[in-house]
Amino acid sequence: MNLILLGPPGAGKGTQAKKISAKYNLPHISTGDIFRETVQNGSDLGKKLQGFMSAGALVPDEVVIAIVRERLTKPDTKNGFLLDGFPRTIAQAIALDKELEKIGKKISRVISLTVNEEEIVKRLSSRRVCISCGAAYNLMTQPPKKESICNECHGQVIQRADDNADTVRNRLKVYDTQTSPLIEYYTNSGVLSSVDGMKTVEEVFKNICAAIEK
Ligand code: AMP
Repeated sequence: MNLILLGPPGAGKGTQAKKISAKYNLPHISTGDIFRETVQNGSDLGKKLQGFMSAGALVPDEVVIAIVRERLTKPDTKNGFLLDGFPRTIAQAIALDKELEKIGKKISRVISLTVNEEEIVKRLSSRRVCISCGAAYNLMTQPPKKESICNECHGQVIQRADDNADTVRNRLKVYDTQTSPLIEYYTNSGVLSSVDGMKTVEEVFKNICAAIEK
């Protein structure tokens, strides 16, 4: 099963991706996570990526496509994968289709998570993440038990640099102009399912599973 999770920042892609990946035993491929790791390594590429990410802009297509192409050659993707945060442009989607065609695969389903803008801004401003294990928290609805300490691994819980108000505004604009056209792209190829991301984590997950198994 080859799946894509589509949706604006703060729609719950990361949270749902972890659950889908565990239930269906699929590698979770998040381009955002790959880039954050590269930035932490402090390489020249990391420095370049940081510039785009802290502005809330997209990393250039050719860089992202090369990284995903490489990742899809790893043996753990043999029986399927779950893409989170990729593709984000029509050019990326076309490149992905071409790449999959070469290896005799295609996208089984694209889950589009829908959340309104007011909720996104609320979620992102209170979102916190563990810098060690990536666990996600929300100061309003699900804060860590001990302030700034991860429940899972006792790592430090911080606000993502790109979750500040200005960058969030830009990320939403970028989503509207560059990523949302993918909804039509995947509707036309008959693989899109829309899922209401405003419900509880468990309800959203149940609806995603129903869409996958349909
Ligand atoms: P995310 O964690 O998915 O919200 O991604 C964080 C940031 O990484 C984005 O705001 C972009 O700067 C960059 N990024 C992640 N995935 C992509 C992609 N598919 N194309 C371009 N930039 C990306």
